[in-house]
Amino acid sequence: MRAPSIALGSLELVPLSDGFLALDGGAMFGVVPKPLWERVAPADARNRIRMAMRPLLVRGERTVLIDAGCGDKMDAKSAEIYAFDRSRHLDHALADAGLTATDIDVVLASHLHFDHAGGFTARGQDGVARPRFPRAQYIARTGEWEDAVHPHERNRASYFAENYVPLREAGVLTLVDGDREVAPGIRVRRTGGHTMHHQIVMIESGGQTAVFMADLIPTVAHVPLPWIMGYDLYPMDTLSFKRAFLREAVEREYLVFFEHDPTVSAGYLREKDGRVTVEPVVRG
Ligand SMILES: [Zn+2]
Repeated sequence: MRAPSIALGSLELVPLSDGFLALDGGAMFGVVPKPLWERVAPADARNRIRMAMRPLLVRGERTVLIDAGCGDKMDAKSAEIYAFDRSRHLDHALADAGLTATDIDVVLASHLHFDHAGGFTARGQDGVARPRFPRAQYIARTGEWEDAVHPHERNRASYFAENYVPLREAGVLTLVDGDREVAPGIRVRRTGGHTMHHQIVMIESGGQTAVFMADLIPTVAHVPLPWIMGYDLYPMDTLSFKRAFLREAVEREYLVFFEHDPTVSAGYLREKDGRVTVEPVVRG
């Protein structure tokens, strides 16, 4: 199977997959009542909805991987809770794109929750977690790193040190502050909301812009303003960033990537009569 690839100026964008997981539907939609959300995201017998984990590959002067899914270090208890389906995972997706882990130059983190950063490291035969992409420099935001290494009761279930501390120990982690370019055409932009330092990734080439939205708008169902995850630590910050971002994305015709949507990888946001909808570009 060949991975779909999208040209953006001189860059090539390839949505990848690290499989699926299932999260509590109520937690995924915050204040939205179940009779509304279950129409668009049907729940299983344990009230969970199916979500994809879709890292994004950007090929240009450098080969950049944005997020890396949950990886293969999760224990049996987590597998039970989150129903991981990794029958096809990131290694398969990279192979479909003609790549292996050694081809990745830069790994960029939207934030350090396990479903985004778990794939940053892998355990060796000795059981020790090490950087999974041997040639890569990893980039995360300083504030996110500080939160991840000092978790509290409300976010502890999402942060696992083995996903990112080995990067620092191996000397392959660069922490960046502020909104800035991290590779040619690739810029990070803090949203806050989901975590205080959660960031999206703006990708620009040839006058076109694509955006990896990470957990700002994780699925197509999360496009309407009040559809905000219960997981978000600062939902009012999500709301204000999202309000401004949706307007910007419609006006400037950004190609947006949904990291968690089970069927739509990318699309354009269109507005009609004050309602924003998604015109899918890449499915599956
Ligand atoms: Zn997530």
